[in-house]
Amino acid sequence: MAEDSAGGGERSFKPVSGNVMPRFSGIATFMRLPYLEDPAGAEIGLIGVPWDGGTTNRAGARHGPRQIRDVSTMTRNVHHVSGTKPFDLCRCADLGDVPVNPIVIEDTIERIEKFFARVHAAGVFPLSAGGDHLITLPIMRAIAKGRALGMVHFDAHTDTSDKYFGENYYTHGTPFRRAIEEGLLDPKRTVQIGIRGALYSDSDADWGADQGIRVITIEEFYDLGVDAVIAEARRVVGAGPTYVSFDVDGLDPVYAPGTGTPEIGGFTTFEAQKMLRGLAGLDLIGGDVVEVAPPFDPSGNTAIVGATMMFEILCVLAEAVAARRQDAAAE
Ligand code: MN
Ligand code: MN
Repeated sequence: MAEDSAGGGERSFKPVSGNVMPRFSGIATFMRLPYLEDPAGAEIGLIGVPWDGGTTNRAGARHGPRQIRDVSTMTRNVHHVSGTKPFDLCRCADLGDVPVNPIVIEDTIERIEKFFARVHAAGVFPLSAGGDHLITLPIMRAIAKGRALGMVHFDAHTDTSDKYFGENYYTHGTPFRRAIEEGLLDPKRTVQIGIRGALYSDSDADWGADQGIRVITIEEFYDLGVDAVIAEARRVVGAGPTYVSFDVDGLDPVYAPGTGTPEIGGFTTFEAQKMLRGLAGLDLIGGDVVEVAPPFDPSGNTAIVGATMMFEILCVLAEAVAARRQDAAAE
């Protein structure tokens, strides 16, 4: 059909205005964007991955995408600091949820990779709502083909453990070990910000350090300050393709109590927003916000935090996507 052709045809890639239909009404999609089953024609796809089969402690992140969609209907068009208008810069759409298998980890990992491979093949850059942090591994399998990615990773945890209960190589504590082993992620272009919490053993942190990951603990974060941390993150990832992964447990649990593995002593929501804004101009190719677990936060605030961080990432991602489009047109 003509309206399904690349370039958009007559399909809308804009949010429904709050002056057309009130923000509390209508069917909830991410940021009130049109829902598309076929990604063709979009440039940025917002995707839910409602799955917490990799969770080792408190499950509940499977409920994240639905509540984030609900509260994200308050998202407006213009970033209040940068002035970025992501929905003017890029064709954006809600591409729905990955049809996960809530029982079988290996099957779900395959389903996530397949879904994102289709998005990637359509030339669409993904911004996802988890789900626990294991979802980032199959996303990277789908979008890192042929080139190791850099990553700016916000988290209380490094997520570079090897295995769990002896033989489980796939949990939300292992995605970046697997991603580095598989050549999807370049450890020397990876920076982890906010790391803290007691360790399993003295040697817990050795593997990541040996690979060359730049770990900025929460202590170093506060010693350096936000601007210096931004500068360091930009230095580490450099000019190459870079993914942004935001685990809400990087925040102090007073801001995001609805999460599976809370660790006290984290950064604030405002510091996180400033750091995400500081990624403007990098060659961003996608991102995610993970570990929002609504059952642990009856206030709903953690989902508001998740939706807001998604908007922050969307703004810098849209700038990158638009810049690459302009570069391609100039060639
Ligand atoms: Mn994590
Ligand atoms: Mn974490």
